[in-house]
Amino acid sequence: MRAEAVIDLAALRGNVRALRARTGSAGVMSVVKADAYGHGAVPCALAALDAGATWLGTATPEEALALRAAGITPDRARVLCWLWTPAGPWAQAVAADLDISVSGEWALRHVLDAVRATGRPARIHLKADTGLGRNGAQPHDWPDLVAAARAAEAEGLLTVAGLWSHFACADEPGHPANAAQLTAFRQALVVAEAAGLRPEVRHLANSPATLLMPETHFDLVRAGLAQYGLSPVPEVGGPEEFGLRPVMTLQAGLAQVKRVPGGHGVSYGHSYVTQGETTLALVPMGYADGIPRHASGRGPLWLGGKWRTVAGRVAMDQFVVDLGGDPAEVGDLAVLFGPGDRGEPTAEDWARATGTISYEIVTRIGARVPRRYLNAGPDHGGRG
Ligand SMILES: *Cc1c(COP(=O)(O)O)cnc(C)c1O
Repeated sequence: MRAEAVIDLAALRGNVRALRARTGSAGVMSVVKADAYGHGAVPCALAALDAGATWLGTATPEEALALRAAGITPDRARVLCWLWTPAGPWAQAVAADLDISVSGEWALRHVLDAVRATGRPARIHLKADTGLGRNGAQPHDWPDLVAAARAAEAEGLLTVAGLWSHFACADEPGHPANAAQLTAFRQALVVAEAAGLRPEVRHLANSPATLLMPETHFDLVRAGLAQYGLSPVPEVGGPEEFGLRPVMTLQAGLAQVKRVPGGHGVSYGHSYVTQGETTLALVPMGYADGIPRHASGRGPLWLGGKWRTVAGRVAMDQFVVDLGGDPAEVGDLAVLFGPGDRGEPTAEDWARATGTISYEIVTRIGARVPRRYLNAGPDHGGRG
């Protein structure tokens, strides 16, 4: 083994169950965009559905179509895709019975073109911009969008299956934008309902809102990071405080171990120089595998029962660790991150060491790293 990402699907199922226990009657949409944040979209989607998620969410329509192509039929899961791109495969999306987010009348026109092309009604979710300032319709455009969608629905061209929005600051409890967005969302619902829309689901909450703001759950929560067992609010609490367990372990087998004299430069630029005679171990992963180059001299790993730090620069395919006087052999396991209960660092530790968020650490693990799935079969309670 050069390197692998071990994906514990029993942990993922446990996380989905922990979220369901918080959401009560609201359903859980398992967000599997970006290849399930690097964990593998299809195996994670199937595990989340086994654990009681009823919806899947993706950014692009291509990601959603891939789930259908993998055999996840509409009776198994509704799939919503929300990132509108011009010339997207909207006719295929309608034909595959995907739910499509619509943020403006121009997008509605494209959906209606797809309806005419396929001869099938579409399912759409109207998105309100309640303050994020990204996609979604502004309050002054919302009444016209709602009216146009209602008219198309009355003609049998589409179903408005959802009304939704997205938070800007849900990871900052008490931020005034949260209450303002909740109020704006309620107002958008009132406008839509007054126009005659009767959506199946109204949804607003992402992972931090799911964990911290029960008043935002409505009919469905969209959970991404939390189902992968990482805390979206590390300042408030780690995964264990929310009943979550990290799903991904990233590890590699040492490719070389050698003695070098003191004063020896290590890796490009010689930003690290050995203090005295020592043992260097070569970890065969680099920034092409998603290890941030910012981890040079900073990234933590677990090797030979100790916490170590990347020595010198992370290269494209490899980096070096200074073991001091400790013995090691080629093939020994270096654990970059995992759940943390064997002493190894976590993805959150890597995020802190490199000035980013754990979302980015797991999502950027590259296609060159094989994923190995543990506990793929459905279990029945417990963590398998
Ligand atoms: C990515 C995303 C989510 C999931 O966010 P998490 O914080 O990972 O739970 C939910 N909704 C939308 C619109 C997203 O883009």
